[in-house]
Amino acid sequence: MADCLFCAIANKTIPATIVYEDELVIAFKDINPVTPVHVLLIPKKHIDSLATVALEDKELLGHMLLSVKKVAELLQIDQDGYRLVSNCGENGGQVVKHLHFHLLGGKKLGTKLS
Ligand code: 5GP
Ligand code: ZN
Repeated sequence: MADCLFCAIANKTIPATIVYEDELVIAFKDINPVTPVHVLLIPKKHIDSLATVALEDKELLGHMLLSVKKVAELLQIDQDGYRLVSNCGENGGQVVKHLHFHLLGGKKLGTKLS
């Protein structure tokens, strides 16, 4: 999608530190990390957010979650644990309008979610 930052990262027209990639997804380091490990996992296909996923995205969504597991293992945070967040829409604090999962780890996180 034109003018989408994360599509540009997926197309490699904007650089990012990629930690994992396959035919459907790409995972890269957040430019402004809030935890020692802060990775964004996105579908290569443009989807605005969880609010706009369609039934045809069912397999892709499952693939994204299995990819999170894979990335957590690659970055060696699977044993200690991690948090997965997807901000959705205005109230959810979504800034980049391309579906993404924040994978947060590398330290013990608090229990407060808001
Ligand atoms: P949101 O608030 O939309 O859930 O999160 C967007 C995330 O994208 C933020 O954590 C922000 O730091 C990250 N981000 C914004 N621009 C860039 C960029 O150009 N490169 C990378 N790697 N991350 C970005
Ligand atoms: Zn996009």
